[in-house]
Amino acid sequence: MLSMIDIQKIRADFPILNREVNGKPLIYFDNAATSQTPQVVIDAIVEYYTVYNANIHRGVHTLSQEATDAYEVARKKVQQHFNAKHDYEMILTAGTTHAINIVATGFTSFLKEGDEIIVSAMEHHSNIVPWQMLCERTGASLKVIPMTEQGVLMMDVYEELLSKKTKLVFVNHVSNALGTVNPIEFIIEKAHAVGAAVLLDGAQATPHLKPDVQALDVDFYVASAHKLCGPTGVGVLYGKEEWLNKLPPYQGGGDMIDQVTFEKTTYAGLPFKFEAGTPNICGGIAFGVALDYLNDLGFENIAAYEKELLDYATKALKEIEGLRIYGEADEKTAVISFNVGNIHPYDIGTIVDKLGVAVRTGHHCAQPIMDFFKIPGTVRASFAFYNTKEEIDTFVEAVKKAVMMLS
Ligand SMILES: *Cc1c(COP(=O)(O)O)cnc(C)c1O
Repeated sequence: MLSMIDIQKIRADFPILNREVNGKPLIYFDNAATSQTPQVVIDAIVEYYTVYNANIHRGVHTLSQEATDAYEVARKKVQQHFNAKHDYEMILTAGTTHAINIVATGFTSFLKEGDEIIVSAMEHHSNIVPWQMLCERTGASLKVIPMTEQGVLMMDVYEELLSKKTKLVFVNHVSNALGTVNPIEFIIEKAHAVGAAVLLDGAQATPHLKPDVQALDVDFYVASAHKLCGPTGVGVLYGKEEWLNKLPPYQGGGDMIDQVTFEKTTYAGLPFKFEAGTPNICGGIAFGVALDYLNDLGFENIAAYEKELLDYATKALKEIEGLRIYGEADEKTAVISFNVGNIHPYDIGTIVDKLGVAVRTGHHCAQPIMDFFKIPGTVRASFAFYNTKEEIDTFVEAVKKAVMMLS
């Protein structure tokens, strides 16, 4: 368990936590939207641009080789983190959204009318819209696993939806709006039993736990570095080698080719087939450093400490009259979505910001969830391992103050 002393040490790693907002110390509870960046990651970014900024995979000169080596070391770190079999199964992308689009576009050539693909009712828009576009292109149809009022997916209905027509199932490992940890082992096993592939959107799971793609036997797993203490605009698509070999390239361009003539172009092997153009080199390197940082802390420690914060905040918030929490699954990450009475979430968000607290308000890129609960949105407080119980106390007082002013 992380002690208070460790917490002070950890907080010192994040320079942004020293700043003030509206004359108050910043309390950053919007970690589900993006995480803050530790000094080691900032240093890696500065070092890249100060010492060895160069394009990769093509220069014989020293800087290019140093940059290429660092980038490929980062890929290995990502491979080890997710426990993939091969480093070339890790496609470095611009993030989760980009990774999902690579797969959704690639599946165009595998689907036909009458085929079915399955999503869940609690997805981020980036795990809905690319698949709707895929259905428009192919005539396949989209089925939805419903959820309960507690924000738990209905696995009995899922089993009924599965059939020989099912080609692909894509669900988030953890919901960004509700915090629900989904029963992914069951989902994968049942999908494979009918011959369907599975893609897991790990954008919201990866900050809190360490997935093992081989143990899960998942076909595709995607995540974003910026929710993992890394920079924005970089992420990963893990795909099983067989799938990545079958899947056509997403973008054409430099670095993804073997031979180019005007008659015919042949593609490079993995992972380069999916990495056209100059990538976010510095971002990829910094992603590797961020994973090192988190693994040094240890995901078991992170999860245990965040669970304490979640339980503490849930209990304190529930004492506020008229407050309803959305997402009450037994297995949750440190995300609390709530409303108080009929007060608009935006109004609460605005007042707590005046008091230095950053929370998210709105639909959290998951409008279908808001429609399900028949609400315009929620206030969402999402915690990270660098947050404290004292911050939660201040936040709860701020919410109480907001409620008093608004009701
Ligand atoms: C943040 C998030 C995304 C989108 O990630 P980007 O980095 O914006 O591409 C997708 N799914 C979930 C569950 C998320 O939390």
